[in-house]
Amino acid sequence: MSDQISVDDTVTKARQNCQQLGVRLTPKREKVLRVLLNADQPLSAYDVVDLFKEQFSENLPAMSAYRILTFLLDNGFVHKLETTNQFISCRHISCDHQHEPPQFLICDRCNAVKELSIGKQTLTELNNGIEQSGFVLVRKQLELHGLCQECQQKDHSDIALDKSES
Ligand SMILES: [Zn+2]
Ligand SMILES: [Zn+2]
Ligand SMILES: [Zn+2]
Repeated sequence: MSDQISVDDTVTKARQNCQQLGVRLTPKREKVLRVLLNADQPLSAYDVVDLFKEQFSENLPAMSAYRILTFLLDNGFVHKLETTNQFISCRHISCDHQHEPPQFLICDRCNAVKELSIGKQTLTELNNGIEQSGFVLVRKQLELHGLCQECQQKDHSDIALDKSES
């Protein structure tokens, strides 16, 4: 994960959040969360199963993976990217502020994902526009695909190399 907060600190915070919510962060749930926190890319449920085995030398049946991911989703520790069917840890687990509706910027080249919060006003305007068009949203999450900063820079350096400027 891209933030400076350590995985351990985030897990501690997640455990506190679970206590407040009256749910339990069982060892398996904690490990799945760790897998997602350790990843710098969004993961499919099968990636989670593979990495779980790699990191904890334990088998996680796909069914359990789905159940645990649903638990983590329901309690706001992870998000699901609907357009790619992948999971990503929430970057606000350690924050005390209220979670704004997230917007995800997804790099189509390296799969990096950035979670951004949308301002309430922007969202209201967007929703009003959608309402006026008579359209009903099934999913309110925004997922925007493009190129991340790093990949853009790579593009630029490629161009520079072509012109033998570097
Ligand atoms: Zn989030
Ligand atoms: Zn935050
Ligand atoms: Zn990228």
